[in-house]
Amino acid sequence: MIDTAVHTTSGPIGVDMLIVGAGITGLYQLYRARQAGFNAIILEAGGGIGGTWYWNRYPEARFDSESYTYAYLFSKELYDEWRWSEHFAGQPEIERYLNHVADRFDLRAHIRLNARVTSAVFNETTGAYTVQSEDGATYIARFLVAATGVLSVPFFPSIPGRENFAGQSYHTGLWPAAPVDFKGKRVAVIGTGSSGVQLVPAIAGDVASMTVYQRSPNWCTPLNNRPITEEEQRALRADFETIKKTLDTSISGFLHEPSNRSSSEDSKEERFAFFETLWNSPGFSKMTSNYADFFFNRPLREEFSEFLAGKIRSIVKDPGTADKLIPKDHIYAEKRPPYATGFYEAFNNSHVKLVAMKETPITRITAKGIETTEGFEEFDIIVWATGFDFARAMQRMGIRGRRGVALQDAWKDGPSTFLGIQAAGFPNLFFPGGPHGAAANNPRYNGDQIDFIMELLTHAEQSGTNIIEPTQAAEDEWNHIMVSAAPYSPFSPELSYYYGSNIPGKPRKLLLNPAGRGVLFDVMNASRQSGFANFTLSSAAADAVPA
Ligand code: NAP
Repeated sequence: MIDTAVHTTSGPIGVDMLIVGAGITGLYQLYRARQAGFNAIILEAGGGIGGTWYWNRYPEARFDSESYTYAYLFSKELYDEWRWSEHFAGQPEIERYLNHVADRFDLRAHIRLNARVTSAVFNETTGAYTVQSEDGATYIARFLVAATGVLSVPFFPSIPGRENFAGQSYHTGLWPAAPVDFKGKRVAVIGTGSSGVQLVPAIAGDVASMTVYQRSPNWCTPLNNRPITEEEQRALRADFETIKKTLDTSISGFLHEPSNRSSSEDSKEERFAFFETLWNSPGFSKMTSNYADFFFNRPLREEFSEFLAGKIRSIVKDPGTADKLIPKDHIYAEKRPPYATGFYEAFNNSHVKLVAMKETPITRITAKGIETTEGFEEFDIIVWATGFDFARAMQRMGIRGRRGVALQDAWKDGPSTFLGIQAAGFPNLFFPGGPHGAAANNPRYNGDQIDFIMELLTHAEQSGTNIIEPTQAAEDEWNHIMVSAAPYSPFSPELSYYYGSNIPGKPRKLLLNPAGRGVLFDVMNASRQSGFANFTLSSAAADAVPA
């Protein structure tokens, strides 16, 4: 095998595994592959390690899953030596952590930065992919892993004149490395999803003025972040095994205590008292620790939304602004809810204004600012907090499978997968963390998928095979499970980006795994027990396998 870390010749570089993306998933895949003896490398489009946590460096970007539940659990030593400062770490700390992991496990030498993949073509004879990257290199990879994430292609709405703006503009998902100076600036923020609601309060104290352009309000609740105390640090270390077991097995991948109480056991007054407790509890526990019937009881979610509307009215002093901030088009959990600190409070500043775009849409952007149906405002900076084209990245890196079929053509009506790991017609391509995999705390699900992939690769190696592809029947069955479970998901097909609804012209298809982690585990276990019978394992001619 060629050691890619020191490769200097200009010919194609042969590797066992080429991983695309140096985010949380890609780094873990690299670690596992190298541990198993594979000659593996990562190609990363960005100029640094971290994936999402490299690109999304806008003010107050931070985890909204608890730091220690989102981080790696594969090494007790790593877990013990890294002390998260807060329950929900901020982006700089997360980026430091991922760089530490790269150094700690000797991964950095096997990561090429500024190397965006432009094409990856399967060769039916050799069973390998020929991969080209923007930096001019060519690779021959026996296995290709797209660890490209689901929220990695920033979306800019096509608003007339967008490109004419002469001031500074930034997308939250493409934030520059040098800090943006908001001091004394007139700032527009477009979008009030998780990114927008984190950013708005973070810069409200600096800006001269801020106008937030909100197309649809979201149900934003407090993150309730705080530093991790010394006592909690000790407990986190002492309880590692229990914590790991819970995170490795729980459906949500969180540590939150699920409630076993049904809403019907309480009066409305008692329910509102419980909602108050949830309001003051951390992050996603508003969902995961809510009543046991929360996800099956729409009137209960309507009542929770009524409680939240009351909260918004109590925080925002101007009743007209409060009313605009209360969602009318969806109830809690029909869209992925954001968690933030001080978002609603920011509107109590006289220099922070809300524009409800459904009443007063943006008509155009000019060199100087933004025009709506109500008037024109000048800005120095426009922030696009307008989200992402979910699970798109792997469809635009030129992947071609059997008979030269492009992945983006095969998936023109939406992704079709087995276990959210592989697709028939694309042998030796794996995509942990892609569509149909996760349903809750992402790194936990993505890790489950990588562990399974490594078992599958080891099995193939032991059986003397090197071309791995799910059977069409297995893929059809998994797709059937996804489609059948989708109606039970709380997310709205019309409004949630999990269905692709934020992208004009994108097929509406639930892109998560609505059956959840339990079913993912069940199907993986059945596959293991059957000797991976839902995969076709075959061999390329011995002399065709790249050296
Ligand atoms: P998002 O949730 O998709 O929000 C995008 C925002 O842009 C929405 O308010 C949307 O309005 C608005 N928008 C879209 N098209 C528009 C248009 N044509 N005109 C005006 N407004 C438009 O994106 P995001 O806030 O970047 O968050 C995406 C996901 O990233 C989150 O759901 C979460 O999974 C992840 N994230 C996580 C964290 C964290 O704390 N860990 C932080 C940030 C993001 P509509 O609602 O009307 O479509």
